[in-house]
Amino acid sequence: MKKIQMVDLQGQYQHIKETVDVSIQEVLNTSAYINGPLVHEFQADLEKYLDVKHVIPCANGTDALQIAMMGLGLEQGDEVITADFTFAATVEVIALLKLTPVLVDVEADTFNMDIDALKRAITPKTKAIVPVHLFGQVANMDAVMEIAAAHNLYVIEDNAQAIGANYTSKDGTKKKAGTIGNVGTTSFFPSKNLGCYGDGGAIFTNDDALAHTIRGIVNHGMYTRYYHDVVGVNSRLDAIQAAVLKVKLPLLDSYCNARRNAARFYNNAFAKNTHIITPTTSACGEICDTCDCHVFHQYTLQITNGKRDELHKHLLENNIPNAIYYPVPLHAQKAYKDERYNEDDFKVTNTLIKTVISLPMHTELDTDQLEFITKTILDFVN
Ligand SMILES: *Cc1c(COP(=O)(O)O)cnc(C)c1O
Repeated sequence: MKKIQMVDLQGQYQHIKETVDVSIQEVLNTSAYINGPLVHEFQADLEKYLDVKHVIPCANGTDALQIAMMGLGLEQGDEVITADFTFAATVEVIALLKLTPVLVDVEADTFNMDIDALKRAITPKTKAIVPVHLFGQVANMDAVMEIAAAHNLYVIEDNAQAIGANYTSKDGTKKKAGTIGNVGTTSFFPSKNLGCYGDGGAIFTNDDALAHTIRGIVNHGMYTRYYHDVVGVNSRLDAIQAAVLKVKLPLLDSYCNARRNAARFYNNAFAKNTHIITPTTSACGEICDTCDCHVFHQYTLQITNGKRDELHKHLLENNIPNAIYYPVPLHAQKAYKDERYNEDDFKVTNTLIKTVISLPMHTELDTDQLEFITKTILDFVN
């Protein structure tokens, strides 16, 4: 059996090495390292794939969130609501911009923002909601968009973990994750579902005026060369990274399918174990390639017999990498602690941090590996 990896970047590269190497060589041959044709080509390809009017590439997914918030003109003291159970980047940029982060609990089954908690968190100062499509599953966007419309709030989708996922609304319309709110952001960090070989990110919007504003912000606030109309940042996608992404984008749907196949194997193996809760796919209730609502950035179990930490160690001893995403809720992190927060408001997150465990998930998992992983877990959790 091949060595099991949490994410097998090398295995994936070996399948596409020839085309990727040619694409990178094209950048070297032309020395168009900044912007240049490959960045524009990838941008246009991604606009087409997502069916969105504007993609603005940038340096990473954290910048993408920050720039989206700057583009919307959010100001000091504005409240921005996001989930307590997510990667820190989301709350980090809110705090950096001197906006007021408001953290809300998540749902125990989908790990996404709890809609009742979101409703309760709205005040006259609320300006924006940042749903995070955690672990590859789109949040309840029908509800988020309804609430946003009723309270006149912006919606910024943190789509770092769910690029390629679809969302089917109640009225039957199907859209790509990240293109439903006012603006969406993503990350091309190597281990993300569409990863490059370094850092990268992008912002998506159908709003022409917002796209124009954001294009200036990513480039030092310049709309005319050397005329700086607003305070901006320097955040670009490297041409070498665009060269990698241009090759990988046409493969994204097959990568999502490979992840779903692994998830299906895991789900079937754990179905009968009463101490293991497998991930819920909210849209159709199953792992389905048609609705494509979950792209399994992570495959995350909940271990309900109190032995999560022991399982974590046992798997490592058996050379099965695994991870706890996330071990500390944002409201309890030293950097983001605040007297405003009340432990009773985070019951689900406070439980999840003790029960969740993420298993190896990538495009290269084979049946031998999946059998070994599931057998090792089932022998231990019984
Ligand atoms: C990875 C990630 C980010 C940040 O992306 P970077 O490219 O690493 O800056 C933001 N939000 C979420 C939910 C992420 O998983």
